[in-house]
Amino acid sequence: MSLDLHIYNTLSRQKEVFTPLLTSHVGMYVCGPTVYGEPHLGHARPSITFDIVFRYLQHLGLKVRYVRNITDAGHLVDDADEGEDKIAKKARLEQLEPMEVVQFYTIKYHKAVEALNCLPPSIEPRATGHIIEQIEMVKTILNNGYAYEVNGSVYLDVNKYNEDFPYGKLSGRNLEDTLENTRALEGQSEKKSPVDFAIWKKASPEHIMRWPSPWGDGFPGWHLECSAMSSKYLGDTFDIHGGGMDLVFPHHEAEIAQSNACNKCDPAKYWMHNNMITINGQKMGKSLGNFINLEEFFSGSHDLLERAYNPMTVRFFILQAHYRSPLDFSNDALQAAEKGMSKLLNATTTLQSLKAGAESTVDIKALEEKCYKAMNDDFNTPILIAHLFEAVRIVNSAKAGDEQLKNEDIQKLNQLFDTFLFNILGLQEDQDNKGNDLTKEVMNIILQLRGNAKANKDWTIADLIRDELKKLNIEVRDGSDGSSWEVKN
Ligand code: ZN
Repeated sequence: MSLDLHIYNTLSRQKEVFTPLLTSHVGMYVCGPTVYGEPHLGHARPSITFDIVFRYLQHLGLKVRYVRNITDAGHLVDDADEGEDKIAKKARLEQLEPMEVVQFYTIKYHKAVEALNCLPPSIEPRATGHIIEQIEMVKTILNNGYAYEVNGSVYLDVNKYNEDFPYGKLSGRNLEDTLENTRALEGQSEKKSPVDFAIWKKASPEHIMRWPSPWGDGFPGWHLECSAMSSKYLGDTFDIHGGGMDLVFPHHEAEIAQSNACNKCDPAKYWMHNNMITINGQKMGKSLGNFINLEEFFSGSHDLLERAYNPMTVRFFILQAHYRSPLDFSNDALQAAEKGMSKLLNATTTLQSLKAGAESTVDIKALEEKCYKAMNDDFNTPILIAHLFEAVRIVNSAKAGDEQLKNEDIQKLNQLFDTFLFNILGLQEDQDNKGNDLTKEVMNIILQLRGNAKANKDWTIADLIRDELKKLNIEVRDGSDGSSWEVKN
């Protein structure tokens, strides 16, 4: 299948034509959250970025197996090889079982990404559910001679690996750079070299998340789960591997080394990374007090927020920037995004009431082609949104009588919004308002039926409707110009 889609590949540092390994099936693996805290803005960007990739590839007619993992073991504090497990630490502080922490925050994460209208992945595997696969991988890497065991832990021998495979090709850091950056941080170490990293760690007596292995009780290194689970569900080499830019080093670099050390091949053909989010120009950080949870955005409960923002505003705002560009959050920027999005949504409503003319002064087909061109250019959502605003201008000008639309133009515009605004960008009407609108329409029907009953002097039915509504706290009032209703609290 020949596609026009170009994807920027972090590995080659350039845009490449996307050619799936198999004709019509695409495998995509995205590093998911470590579930030990509230879902925040940092989670929203990769979820939305790869949701767009998932939606667009499917729109192009490809079958996509989208795997996004849940990290529930092995991720140590400071992303290092020493220290406490992030989940175990939270469990200790809150006197919970580690799996209670995992369950609690996994549910919260799912709720938040669903509110952002991200489609669920095809498979969502957990690290703790794949300990056997990870142990098997460690065994193979040891057998292949690219790892060594010391005192119950197994480390990937980066120097040995680098003799056969270029280490650092994703991040562009060579071995000397890496050595320079890590040497100062390492104290007493059982590693042969500071650049080596754990693929299996011996569990100290107080470490509660532990499993038996050929090397004694321990737990997998953080990077290993993604290598084991991606090859299990997508094969040793698959199409797209994604994640946040902060994962390029060491996490994804380590994944490449593990896959080559185990399977003698790269795990993925295309590596995609979304850029990071700042708040009012500052990096997000717990110590800076600007760490805003998604729930706080939706309820407006954080001090830095002037008010609540609808999840669709957050989604639209994120999509207004290209995924490889940095993005700064502020109240002003969010409010501008909110206005922009309501202009788009209003135009889709206006379009329904437009009267077709005999002539056409616009070229919707050309506009549609521009939309595809934007998406095909490395998922350029800000350019796509600019073209959708051109569609808004056309709709509003037609309403004012400044443009002429034929019936087929109106149909094409409807299709354009359906395809790009709703299906590909995944934006939707505010669900609360939608619910209210529906209630209003249903109530209109009920009151109309009651009006008919009264006109027929069927007082039994008229009173029954009024009394049953009253049980639902809906009060019906009869006036000279018809009936009205109100919800009583
Ligand atoms: Zn990962």
